[in-house]
Amino acid sequence: MKRSLLIHLECPSCHQAFNLTVDKEEGAEVMEGKLSCACTSYPIVRGVPRLLPGTTDQKNWTTAERFGEEWKQFSMLTDKYEQQFLSWIEPVKQDHFRGKLVLDVGCGKGRHVLYAQKFGAQEVIGVDLSQAVDAAFDNVGRLPNAHIVQADLYKLPLKPEYDYAYSIGVLHHTPDPAKSFQCMVDKVKQGGSVSAWIYGREGNGWIIYILNPIRRITSKLPLPITKSLAFVLAVIMQAGLKVFYWPAEHVSWLGWMKKILPYSAYLCSIADYSFKENYSIVFDHLLPEIAFYIRQEEFQKWFDDAKLQDVVITRRNNNSWRGFGSKI
Ligand SMILES: [Zn+2]
Repeated sequence: MKRSLLIHLECPSCHQAFNLTVDKEEGAEVMEGKLSCACTSYPIVRGVPRLLPGTTDQKNWTTAERFGEEWKQFSMLTDKYEQQFLSWIEPVKQDHFRGKLVLDVGCGKGRHVLYAQKFGAQEVIGVDLSQAVDAAFDNVGRLPNAHIVQADLYKLPLKPEYDYAYSIGVLHHTPDPAKSFQCMVDKVKQGGSVSAWIYGREGNGWIIYILNPIRRITSKLPLPITKSLAFVLAVIMQAGLKVFYWPAEHVSWLGWMKKILPYSAYLCSIADYSFKENYSIVFDHLLPEIAFYIRQEEFQKWFDDAKLQDVVITRRNNNSWRGFGSKI
């Protein structure tokens, strides 16, 4: 962690500032040390402050840990992520980041922190509950204006000062997605804005009826077994994508196939991904204990309850919702 992170942190319990004790430094990064306040202290381990108050919901923790393992094993960043990120936060464009203090809620391996800083954010703070913060620190933690923090979304150790906060593909994996959204909004200052992307209930019937029962089992299996199962399913899926969905997307006279192939908007969008990328997507779906699928009106209500203005909610790939709103 960089010393410049300190002014953005506060204890999630007593809300006081921290005193920093440094045990080991590498360049601008404090690699090992301690953050202390009036009520307790938190360790800094491998460059990341671990601000976990120790009262995290067990199911939430299990889900986060399993995702953490995934992000460590699939820690690569690819150039497709930039367009994906912009698609997830639509209608936000690159210039929205310029000069802003930005919060990434559920940063995983740090893929979006990378673009937030590339798009000109003044500073970006990526927060994740899981061990994925280690992958995130390796990927982006040493960038001059990026910070990685391990913390619980329900007890964020951050001041309410952000110009822009976003959460991509995370809120639906938390025990109470509506509350999680509000916790993110609470960290945004007046005049700031938020984006969220979540799984939709609409268009995901097959996942709810077929994948959810499978996931109830795979989310409890040891990770190597879940990973092996994901490999087998990914081989089958990749074959289907290359034989049917790739031609439907890329061969103009076969475009009609999109109308008859199931789930085509989404599957065409990942048809030219590498095997490793799609393997990670399948693994991702088999891992979590918690996955909510949210209806549009429910998602809209989060924004209404948070009193956000100029709200824009749109559908993505016929299976998910993305929303943007401002805190005025
Ligand atoms: Zn404290």
